This record gives sequence, structure tokens and C-alpha cells, in this order.
Amino acid sequence: MPYQYDDQNIFAKILRGEIPNDTVLETEHTLAFRDIAPKAPDHVLVIPKGPYVTLDHFCAEASDAEIVDFHRAVAEICKMIGAGPGHGGEGFRAITNAGENGVQEVPHYHLHILAGRPLGPMLLMR
Ligand code: AMP
Repeated sequence: MPYQYDDQNIFAKILRGEIPNDTVLETEHTLAFRDIAPKAPDHVLVIPKGPYVTLDHFCAEASDAEIVDFHRAVAEICKMIGAGPGHGGEGFRAITNAGENGVQEVPHYHLHILAGRPLGPMLLMR
């Protein structure tokens, strides 16, 4: 079944300005803001402004301009928070959760960028 975008999700409300956010960067097609419940000293969520549910949805259906804009924004954020190893930072982790098994809470595609402390193993095995 094709992706159905729920325009009542909390990130859609943030994009419409109905809910405040702590913006880190805004570009033509992308918004990045601090996670409300940070899991690391720096925890930034990067979202496309378009109605995409997951990473694979975004990659399949977004325009080239949106995809490029999103990833250039990621690079800029890593530089801004001082996390990019190429700019002397100590590194970061980028995570996206999708669907039920991915335990995605908000059905608007978002990339978590976590930095500012050692982040441990990628996944807990259980
Ligand atoms: P996920 O489980 O990948 O869907 O992650 C959703 C993330 O959104 C969680 O880390 C939440 O803490 C975060 N979140 C939920 N509501 C807000 C909000 N209003 N502003 C910023 N972050 C939020």
C-alpha cells in the first residue's frame, strides 16, 4: 500500500507554525530543530518540509532539489554543532526509525543527529 501522510502529526504542526520549535537551521526544503527529549548533549531532528513518512518514502518520491537540500542541511548542522570529524569534531550518529519494527513515533520522516558524547554500541542485542 502506498504511503499515506497524516497531516495531523506533530512535525506537520511544527511546519505549519502551530507548535513552537527550537530551530537550528531552516532552508528552502528542510527544517532542523532540537529534540524535545534529547538523548545526547546535541540531538537535532532534520525533517523535509514535504509530506514524506519515512526515509524510503522520501528517497523514492522527493525531488532531486529536496534530496540535495536535505543532505546539504545535514552537513551544515554537523558543522554548526561541531560534530563533523572532517571539521575537527568528535563524531556523531545519524538514526532514522521507520514503521512498526523501527519504532517510529512521529510519522513524518526525520533524521536524528546525536552528538556530544560517546554514543556506545549501535544497537542493544536482545
Ligand atoms: P521517532 O521515534 O524516531 O519517531 O522520534 C520522534 C522524536 O521526536 C523523539 O525523539 C521525540 O522526543 C521527538 N519529539 C516529539 N515531539 C517533539 C517536539 N514537539 N519538538 C521536538 N521534538 C519532538
